[in-house]
Amino acid sequence: MAYMNVDFLKMREFNALNSRIDMHMHTTWTDGKNSMQEMVSKAIENGLSQIAITEHIREQSDYYTDYISEAQSIKKKANIGFFCGFESKIKNVLGDLDISEAAMKAADIIVASVHRIPYGGEYLYPKEISYDDLCDLEREMSISVIRKNEGKIILGHCGGMSIAAYGRFPEDYFRDIIIECVKYNAVFEFNYKYHHIYENLLKDLLLEFNPYVSVGSDAHDVGMVSKRSFINE
Ligand SMILES: [Zn+2]
Ligand SMILES: [Zn+2]
Repeated sequence: MAYMNVDFLKMREFNALNSRIDMHMHTTWTDGKNSMQEMVSKAIENGLSQIAITEHIREQSDYYTDYISEAQSIKKKANIGFFCGFESKIKNVLGDLDISEAAMKAADIIVASVHRIPYGGEYLYPKEISYDDLCDLEREMSISVIRKNEGKIILGHCGGMSIAAYGRFPEDYFRDIIIECVKYNAVFEFNYKYHHIYENLLKDLLLEFNPYVSVGSDAHDVGMVSKRSFINE
């Protein structure tokens, strides 16, 4: 199934050949340490077949037209499936994204992620909120963005803020969110940076419910490119 311009596979379709992908990376366009060309070259060197740069964006960001043109010129020369899109913050429990319509249209893919948490009229860092409230909010924001953007988004690092702040996220919340991904055609991302501690649990749940799956390292430098796997090694 195509999401924007990219075909994703369902979990049970992954095999050693088709899973050499890394669909979540950052560059010097935002907070990454290496250029787009350096990340692409590293992915080719590592033998990947398909990658995406998914840069942070906000609704007011105006850098993206230059970013997309750089990606297009690299794409013409690169010997790899190369896509370019954005990682957008989920703004609230209504599932609104912090990205303009124009940027959304210009992208090959959109990763929607919980980052800072709307709480009592302001945005808080995950550690400023109790574990229970944080998990509940992260679950609610994830489910609402999936429902509101049917067939259009990859859910980035599910449970990632709870994992980053407290080292865990409830198994039944992962399950609830994966079931929503199946119902509303969202792609569930296995994000190496946040999910490597949950490889076995997520593998079992994803095989059980069989949503579309993306795999990403969330690399911010070349050393992390292609750190992604639980299905391909
Ligand atoms: Zn993120
Ligand atoms: Zn990211």
